[in-house]
Amino acid sequence: MRRSAISGFAKKAREFLGEEGVLQEEVDLLVYEQDGTLALRGKADVVVFPRTVQEMAKVVELAYNYGIPIIGRGSGTSLSGGGVPVTGGVIVSTARMNKILEIDLENEVAVVQAGVINDWINAYLARMGYQYAIDLGFQYMADPGSQRVSTIGGNIAHNSGGVKCFKYGVTVNQLRGLTIVLPTGEVRRIGGKEFEQAGYDLIGLITGSEGTLALVAEAIVRIVPTYESSVTILAKFADLPTAGRAVSAVIASGAMPVAMELMDKLAVEAVESGPYAAGLPKDAEAVLLIQVEGSLPGAKEEASKVAEVLRRSGASGVEIVEDPARAAKIWAARKQAFGAMGFVGPNYVVEDGTIPRKKLAEALMLARAAGAKRGLRVANVFHAGDGNLHPLILYDERKPGEREKAIEAGEEILEACVELGGTITGEHGVGYMKKKLLPKMYRREEIELMKAIKAVFDPKGLMNPGKIFP
Ligand SMILES: Cc1cc2nc3c(=O)[nH]c(=O)nc-3n(C[C@H](O)[C@H](O)[C@H](O)COP(=O)(O)OP(=O)(O)OC[C@H]3O[C@@H](n4cnc5c(N)ncnc54)[C@H](O)[C@@H]3O)c2cc1C
Repeated sequence: MRRSAISGFAKKAREFLGEEGVLQEEVDLLVYEQDGTLALRGKADVVVFPRTVQEMAKVVELAYNYGIPIIGRGSGTSLSGGGVPVTGGVIVSTARMNKILEIDLENEVAVVQAGVINDWINAYLARMGYQYAIDLGFQYMADPGSQRVSTIGGNIAHNSGGVKCFKYGVTVNQLRGLTIVLPTGEVRRIGGKEFEQAGYDLIGLITGSEGTLALVAEAIVRIVPTYESSVTILAKFADLPTAGRAVSAVIASGAMPVAMELMDKLAVEAVESGPYAAGLPKDAEAVLLIQVEGSLPGAKEEASKVAEVLRRSGASGVEIVEDPARAAKIWAARKQAFGAMGFVGPNYVVEDGTIPRKKLAEALMLARAAGAKRGLRVANVFHAGDGNLHPLILYDERKPGEREKAIEAGEEILEACVELGGTITGEHGVGYMKKKLLPKMYRREEIELMKAIKAVFDPKGLMNPGKIFP
């Protein structure tokens, strides 16, 4: 039944998407078996590439009528297995929906198709002195860390964040309007260019819903004038708990950094072993990277105050980085930290949990212990300002059982995050990898309420099945 439904679907989709708009060959489908989640695979039956809202609507309607699962796909950088077709079905790729449709400076918004790459908006706006609101327009300093690859549609589906969320908030805070395609193929426009909307917050509902309610076809995103200057501060610490306490001290001082990132010794070793080495101190147990912004004199003054707080909080060294080229190099090193893990271990599982900031040190020690008791090393690179941890559990998939141990350690770390008063995801979504942990965070009634909302949008359960709900 499924086989004939797929061939019927593919034949009809080719009529309006063209030969190149529908992939069915084994070798082509292989590319879509995985995303950024190295520990998970799943096989799609067909991949389609609409170019417009109308084509996306037609293709979704067709799949819905045939009863085929529908999985949205941006650039496939999800770290929770969000876009992996675990039940098979049709992948709707936004790779050809890659146009910036309008820049409206009066309303300070950009209208973009879902497949536009996050960083393209900045590249386009740079000459106008504007930037995507979540972004500083500073190369390697845009959010999320995957901004040069990931799509706006994917960012919306996961409600992505990044280093600057401490000041600017996450993706949902940058959205004014969305064009979505419901599972039936009906198109709905929600929000608009204006600031305030009455009634239920439908943008908030769709954002972070991981493609389980509807597909995002277009978005109206906030843009803001680019800040005049920014200054980077680099501090090193002899132990993790002191670094954790220094983060809280900076915030309590009333300073408002745009970014506060922490890297532990193993993470520093990884980046300093590769092409993005930036002279980060390898002898430190923890390195804190902070950025402040404003007019140049204002940013410099703020940087001096922050440096003083760090010294008083026990930093063993503090440097205010005046040279913009060196600052860019330091942030590039931070941004490349995940990729650099290859220098210290062949494979890794990256987790994404949050904890109340004052529990930072405790959570980091628990993360290390969860790895150590299974004979695995854990590196930490994370958004310290908003208590968003990213433990990277290193393993070697050539050694039988290590992958499973790494996944187990990751789950133990996320459970510890919840016990410390945090969550199982700060920005990477629940996806497939963390769905069994959802009951650790929510009561049964709350999960039932979420499922009831899904049923309103997707009564046949065809949108990204197998994700979020255990
Ligand atoms: C090196 C690296 C660094 C990263 N850094 C960060 C970071 O700093 N912050 C952060 O939050 N994340 C980060 N990520 C995770 C990832 O980049 C984000 O989750 C990103 O938003 C995914 O975008 P994508 O285009 O790759 O989406 P995909 O991986 O293709 O899809 C992600 C999810 O969105 C759904 N989806 C995709 N497009 C649509 C659409 N148009 N409509 C509805 N659903 C859709 C998919 O089904 C899937 O569930 C990082 C990943 C890597 C590999």
